[in-house]
Amino acid sequence: MPLLLSPSPTRRQFLAAAGTAAVSLTFAPRARAQGGTSPLRLALLSDTHIPADATETYRGFSPVENLTKVVPQVVAANIDGTLLGGDLARLKGLPEDYARLKGLLAPVMAKGPVGMVLGNHDHRANFFEAFPALKPATAVVANKHTATREAGGLRFVLLDSLLAPDVTPGQLGNAQRAWLAKELSASAQPTVILVHHTLGTNDGELMDADRLFDVLRPHRHVKAIVYGHSHKYEVIEREGRQLINLPAVGYNFNDNEPVGWVESVWTSEGVDLTLRAIGGNQSANGQTTSVHWE
Ligand SMILES: [Zn+2]
Repeated sequence: MPLLLSPSPTRRQFLAAAGTAAVSLTFAPRARAQGGTSPLRLALLSDTHIPADATETYRGFSPVENLTKVVPQVVAANIDGTLLGGDLARLKGLPEDYARLKGLLAPVMAKGPVGMVLGNHDHRANFFEAFPALKPATAVVANKHTATREAGGLRFVLLDSLLAPDVTPGQLGNAQRAWLAKELSASAQPTVILVHHTLGTNDGELMDADRLFDVLRPHRHVKAIVYGHSHKYEVIEREGRQLINLPAVGYNFNDNEPVGWVESVWTSEGVDLTLRAIGGNQSANGQTTSVHWE
């Protein structure tokens, strides 16, 4: 079984579990209501694509410059923690990519816990080498980086869709889907899934997306799935679940898309998503999308 917290964990317990022990000890004390029902505020970042070489650019964007702009915004924001949706590294998940990412993220990690999932441009072993505190003593699913955290009346399940570094499609695999089914049966709390890959049918998406939905079908308490991969910002619905596609921090694939991050406020009934655009199409910068579920 994964590490589960007490039946009614406080937000602080969630955050302590989501981050490292050191982070939880230095968690900045800020005025907030105690208990699990007050909104949970999270910075949502995805597709940072940090290269070892800080001067590297793609489509006119510098991922290092972009994250350098985003980090102080996240640090200044009223948030309890941060989630990163994968493609942390530029292409292959080199140790040097993660070293640079770790340096850039240091102020965010000092502010509060950070949860990360892996994308198709990540490398599991190199990632754990750089972020040893995120490596569980025993992997819940062999060769996959999964985690479950609870806070604010919600459960967050972090999945690993990395199939092989620098190979575009993703896969959860049988073992992880079986684990997920058990995990979802273990609690009826409203649940949010974080995974890197998009859930469509194109060749470069999550290959077992339909089988993921087969697993989810009996579990109506799975309210939202958050992912990155497409470098596109949108909220759509599938089978009554809210699918939240995060914009990329590193670069967009299309001039119509923003580059940046999303400030989010979660309750057991929904989430308010506010776009913090720093590049690309910034016309929706500051706009809040309110997502509700039953
Ligand atoms: Zn990406």
